[in-house]
Amino acid sequence: MPWEFAAATDRGRRRSSNEDAFVVRPELGFFVVADGMGGHAAGEVASRMAVDTVTEQFLAARPAALSAAGLEPALAAATAAANRAICERGEREPDKAGMGTTLTALALLPDTDAWRIAHVGDSRAYLLRGGELTQLTTDHTWVQQQVDLGRLRPAEARGHPFANIVTRALGIGAAVEVDLERGDARPGDLFLLCSDGLSGMVTDRGIARMLAADLPPDTVVTRLIAAANRAGGDDNITAVVVRVLD
Ligand code: CA
Repeated sequence: MPWEFAAATDRGRRRSSNEDAFVVRPELGFFVVADGMGGHAAGEVASRMAVDTVTEQFLAARPAALSAAGLEPALAAATAAANRAICERGEREPDKAGMGTTLTALALLPDTDAWRIAHVGDSRAYLLRGGELTQLTTDHTWVQQQVDLGRLRPAEARGHPFANIVTRALGIGAAVEVDLERGDARPGDLFLLCSDGLSGMVTDRGIARMLAADLPPDTVVTRLIAAANRAGGDDNITAVVVRVLD
């Protein structure tokens, strides 16, 4: 199951720095996005530590991580290790106290069709299949909780004044609950990993339209980032697009 991919991050139009980070290791079928938070550039440190540590740990878990059964525990352990590393550094360095980050990691297994996702926070993974866009992850945010409780309509969640309140992140506590999603990929499937600087600015319908346009992944990524900036570019924007080939 080969794939093609593209990835980019952009500061957006309102922020003076970029606290998003990503890692792409196409030869491993491993793709990660993180969106950091914290003052004094600590958010940048947290997101970079998250993507690097999770990749390192995932690599170290091979060959067990190369089986469909071994993928999930490897992803969960790698995410927990990244959480611990960020917590420890936050405790050691006062200017990084309280730093945190989201993490969304996609692992495709080269020899089978299996994919797995580990997810914490409000970055997202989407799958476009047969022209239909599905959000594979659930946001760990206050507004999503309100939607789940029936107190907010999904349409009201977008642009809500509390939209940026994250209820789960790496770096906040010694233990972190990691969501794991699973499925089997088919040729033509298109995965998107993104930070909320994209999903908060561009509607799912807009994202679906750009993904469905049957363009090379780098063109899709460029268009997604341009659309988020056209919509205001309020936040850092990161997009990773992976297309499964025949
Ligand atoms: Ca963000």
